[in-house]
Amino acid sequence: MEHCKVDVLVIGAGPSGLMLCTWLARLGIKTRLIDKRHNRINSGQADGLQSRTFEILDSMGIGQDIWREANHMLEIRFWNPDKDNRLYRSDMIVDTMPGISRFQQATLHQARIEDYLLKYIGQYSDIAVEYGKMPESLHIDAENAENDEEFPISVTIRQLTSEANGIPNGITNGSHIPNGIFRSNLTADNTDSILAAAKANVASHTETIHAKYVVGCDGAHSWTRRQIECVLEGEQTDFIWGVLDIVPITDFPDIRYRCAIHSASGSMMIIPRENKYVRLYIQVSEVTEDGQPLDRSMINQDTLLRSAQMILAPYELTYKHCHWWTAYRIGQRVGSKFSAHDRIFLAGDAVHTHSPKAGQGMNISMHDTYNLGWKLAHVIKGQSSRSLLATYTSERRQIAQELINFDHRFSQLFSGRPSKDLLDEEGIDPRTFKDVFEKGNLFASGTAVDYTTNLIVAKDPEHQADVLTYKQNYKAPFLGRPVESIPCILTGKQYLARRIPIGMRMPSYKVLNQSDARPWHLQELLSANGTWRVIVFAGDLLDPAQFARYVALGKSLDSSGSFLHKYTPKSAPIDSVFEVLTVHSAPRASIELLSLPAVFHPYNEEYGWDYSKVFVDDISYHEGHGHAYENYGVDHRTGCMVALRPDQYVSWIGELEDLPDLERFFGAFMKAQR
Ligand code: FAD
Repeated sequence: MEHCKVDVLVIGAGPSGLMLCTWLARLGIKTRLIDKRHNRINSGQADGLQSRTFEILDSMGIGQDIWREANHMLEIRFWNPDKDNRLYRSDMIVDTMPGISRFQQATLHQARIEDYLLKYIGQYSDIAVEYGKMPESLHIDAENAENDEEFPISVTIRQLTSEANGIPNGITNGSHIPNGIFRSNLTADNTDSILAAAKANVASHTETIHAKYVVGCDGAHSWTRRQIECVLEGEQTDFIWGVLDIVPITDFPDIRYRCAIHSASGSMMIIPRENKYVRLYIQVSEVTEDGQPLDRSMINQDTLLRSAQMILAPYELTYKHCHWWTAYRIGQRVGSKFSAHDRIFLAGDAVHTHSPKAGQGMNISMHDTYNLGWKLAHVIKGQSSRSLLATYTSERRQIAQELINFDHRFSQLFSGRPSKDLLDEEGIDPRTFKDVFEKGNLFASGTAVDYTTNLIVAKDPEHQADVLTYKQNYKAPFLGRPVESIPCILTGKQYLARRIPIGMRMPSYKVLNQSDARPWHLQELLSANGTWRVIVFAGDLLDPAQFARYVALGKSLDSSGSFLHKYTPKSAPIDSVFEVLTVHSAPRASIELLSLPAVFHPYNEEYGWDYSKVFVDDISYHEGHGHAYENYGVDHRTGCMVALRPDQYVSWIGELEDLPDLERFFGAFMKAQR
């Protein structure tokens, strides 16, 4: 049997596994990535991309291409039956709340997203998906779990034979249209039967991988989840929904809008997509016309179309092109644990399942591993202690619980029948539905994620951020147990930047480069390269007292004992662990870059001064004024300092003199370098 040692073994090459590998590739971590499929998906599954996901993809430099290719959704239209059961357009709202992000909700097929992620991974590493491979046993040496140098996990993986892996791309029923039911949650888990079939074939061989870390990104029927005895807790309902990806031929006037339709014959959601396609989420009756329980094997693209036609009547609907179809049962469940020994982790559908209509599955799954990837890399590279890893569970479990709570409410409202009149208490009131939809959209955008205090989030209990969070709007009680994690050793000063909420991702406004006047969205400066960032809002540098504060900060930062020097390897560029960015508020033309302390625009023997570190909150020639200080709630005279994590979340806020606090903050989990 072959043996191999790797830092990370990733099981599953869906959106969560691939997003994890983008970090591991970018940060040079030795990784293997296996998937039981024999090739990539080319139809079906998820298609919705939320604002925060675009911000993340943009931080990797691929967001703009995906944004251009995707179909943008700007407005949601609501349709309901009138008192005579005739369908009418009852309301419309904006899709993504204006101002919350540079990006709005859009749709693009999951396979295209996976293509972009694979290309990115290939650009930085030799990590490739090893298709047709499946784990069959896992052992962890728990006694050595805390030893950084060890490879305490052994996983035996089996090469599958083609007949073992079931139906390629799910083509069934003699139809040429791929059918997603064979992978949907309506069918039983086939992991064991695939392994048994492979073992029976003498051509199938095994290999043992010794890994420091294993991440199970293996979807809703996760094998990894079983190995660490994690159980999904929550509910599985009887609501069945079908999905039809078609190019519709119809006289329904709103087919290119996202629509939520409640009719007397059931509910339907319309999701306009790229390339003339439209996705229909169609409620399937759980009983037949004569009251018998539905035989799920009878669901196919024709029965789904008939249901859609009845819901949409009197409008007509048919198609000539169908790309994919499936059906699934709605359930909202979260894993009882997200990791074992902080060595084996679960992410994505492996650890939370919910209905797909709110377009969350692919997004939240990628957000999970966007959270985990840099932490794993920092620990493996010896930059941070293993205590950093516990924040993955505390942060992502919180979000998973909020997600299923939101989805539970959303799905129930969507699957219920519309109310007939004000006295009909069991029916769904269209105004309640619209209200939940509107508030839920803020949550769904992913920009409202607000991590609670932990080792790397120094919230300020005395002061709340002065922002509209979805929590103010939509009080989501947590389901399940709260998650304990190591608290932060200090508190940030939220009052210095009232609209940069500690625990949330850094909002973005335009600032100008001091050296060439080019406008940039601040988030564009926060690329996913693994560095922590300290943003110095230097205030009014024309004020001598303020300039002196900035100079004093520069001197402290540049001293040999500062965190900048302590945690950056001597041989590495000074901005490779922490990048210090300045945004000042004096008029651009009144400041000379080279008059500022060198630590803020470091000198390099090969490239000279760094012109990409100092910015100004001033008016641009062609793109207006970002009013960054005002929008961030920072005093334009005295400024402040903000520490950002590599994933753009805000860790800490302090005064320019609070460097000792920042030193203590980093000292709690970072390792001194030589
Ligand atoms: P997945 O995308 O499920 O990826 C898991 C990967 O792990 C797969 O490639 C799988 O082959 C591999 N794998 C599984 N077990 C093993 C194993 N034992 N060994 C090796 N590899 C393994 N979301 C929506 O928003 N809208 C939809 O309409 C929608 N429809 C869906 C229909 C179907 C049939 C499915 C399965 C999912 C659908 N989803 C939909 C959900 C969405 O695709 C997921 O939320 C998203 O893909 C989650 O990403 P993930 O990487 O966590 O899991």
